[in-house]
Amino acid sequence: MNSTAKKAEIRLEGIGVSPGICWGPVEFLGKTLEEPENSDIERREIEAEKGRLSLALLATRDQIIDLQAEISEEEDDNHVGIFDAHLLLLEDSTVLNEVLRVCETQLKSIDWAYYSVVKRYIDSLRKIADPYLRERAVDIEDVAKRVLKNLRWSGIEDDGMRLQSETSIILAHNLTPSDTVGLNRNRVKGFATEIGSATSHTAIMARSLNIPAVVALHQIPDVCNAGDIVLIDGYHGRVILNPSESTLKDYEQLAIRDEELSNSLSELKGQVTATADGKVVTLSANIEFVEELANVSEQDAEGIGLYRTEFFYLQNKEQRSEAFQFGNYRKAAEATGEHGVIIRTLDIGGDKLFPELVDNPEPNPFLGWRGIRLSLDRPGEFRIQLRAILRASAFGKVRVMFPFISTLEELQEAKEQLEIAKQELRDESVEFDENIEVGAMIEIPSAVLIADHLAKEVDFFSIGTNDLVQYTTAVDRVNDRVAALYQPTHPAVVAMIRETVEAAHRNGIWCGICGEAASDLQMTPIWVGLGVDELSVGAAQLLRSRRAIASLDSSICREWVEEVSRLGTAGEISALCREMAEKSYPELLL
Ligand code: PEP
Ligand code: MG
Repeated sequence: MNSTAKKAEIRLEGIGVSPGICWGPVEFLGKTLEEPENSDIERREIEAEKGRLSLALLATRDQIIDLQAEISEEEDDNHVGIFDAHLLLLEDSTVLNEVLRVCETQLKSIDWAYYSVVKRYIDSLRKIADPYLRERAVDIEDVAKRVLKNLRWSGIEDDGMRLQSETSIILAHNLTPSDTVGLNRNRVKGFATEIGSATSHTAIMARSLNIPAVVALHQIPDVCNAGDIVLIDGYHGRVILNPSESTLKDYEQLAIRDEELSNSLSELKGQVTATADGKVVTLSANIEFVEELANVSEQDAEGIGLYRTEFFYLQNKEQRSEAFQFGNYRKAAEATGEHGVIIRTLDIGGDKLFPELVDNPEPNPFLGWRGIRLSLDRPGEFRIQLRAILRASAFGKVRVMFPFISTLEELQEAKEQLEIAKQELRDESVEFDENIEVGAMIEIPSAVLIADHLAKEVDFFSIGTNDLVQYTTAVDRVNDRVAALYQPTHPAVVAMIRETVEAAHRNGIWCGICGEAASDLQMTPIWVGLGVDELSVGAAQLLRSRRAIASLDSSICREWVEEVSRLGTAGEISALCREMAEKSYPELLL
């Protein structure tokens, strides 16, 4: 049986990408069905096995109906129909009769019988050229995973831990951003993967969903089974299989300390973000889903510095419609105050694979058809998004930002498309902000080096450090083999950022940072020293950044950054940063 009470504790080390601690029964998420044991049964066990199947089908039916209800409450009607199809597949009598026949005639466990029959259906559907039918294989697999899981859990004695919560921990070899977006946020407490890196979009999403996550574990041991208890420590990048009583006690203490820090930080809510000598910095939050808006205002963000919009394109085609996007952008515009929301146009590509390209991959997706390149090649689709953004600007302060700019022409063409979209709306008498501000993301070295030209075209810059590090140092941001070379404190990166901020200011525009380095507390003194105007961070990091900024003096940081700029290695810069951070806000560095 799967009871874990007596199994030995195993500790695995990886990279913590989203802070927090959680534990619970584990589920494996993979592209394929988990194969159950191929076990034989006695003839007298047939009836009991059939009974287990009936119970598992009933449990699955209830779960699907619950999910359907939850989702229609969230008004996400696009998904509701999928569950109707899942219910039909669950009750398909051809499949079920065949499963019973395998169990009765070959004397196989019902788990194996179910798995082998369904797997055959899935494999034959996958061979069909018609994409619609191939898609159905995914649905059948989804339903089958649930049934197999319910079969696995039927008959497991309650060891008091399994029922701690209905939610679970996900372990996987890898999760793509679209896998992550598909996770049921109410049920998944945390996840860990064998590969991955801190700036992959999967990691970014974990932070925005506010669930603890660890990546780059390299290998999850085979002895770990579905249903075992697993603890995720997102602070220290640790995953503990079958934690002992004393480990759980230690972690309860850490969770208490973390809560104490959060309570003390909540005193900063409602305060302006400024250095000790009064230099104001705008502190905004990054989001990917409107569901995060409540948390963003709870954490007292002054605005949204980056609204990533790829997720409308990763799930299903209905979400790409102007009406669907507008509905979401409007919610964001209405929910954010004075500093408003910066909506970034589609930045699909790289590790957020465009679904249409999955069967036709590019050799170097990070150097390929990504971001603004794709939008400019598909002006019709691009304008749907621009119209949705413009329409939302009638309901609150909205800015639009173009990603992945590498040439001046791209920025000019993107602005031309914006003008066409504006004219269409004028012709239709639809309201929007005529003076909507336009920004460019600076995340490619060529953009840094022509920043003076770009600055003349826009109202602001936002530096995407996740990509700027990747493209400046030629280190793939999602490849854990070269993770040690991915260095946000590399002197070349610091120089690129310095040049961008100075070019912005020379041209009278403001400059923010929206990459993950914005929330790295060891780098905060650099941002203050360089005079960065805005930092956009994950909502969970926000108050920590406000406290860090309040503990610094801008004139001291300005002088100090000169010293930083003279250093030749990332290690030396990191050491100097750590020293400054430890001197200024030791309580924040857990
Ligand atoms: C970045 O590159 O830093 C950024 C904010 O954009 P993304 O992570 O979505 O590429
Ligand atoms: Mg980027």
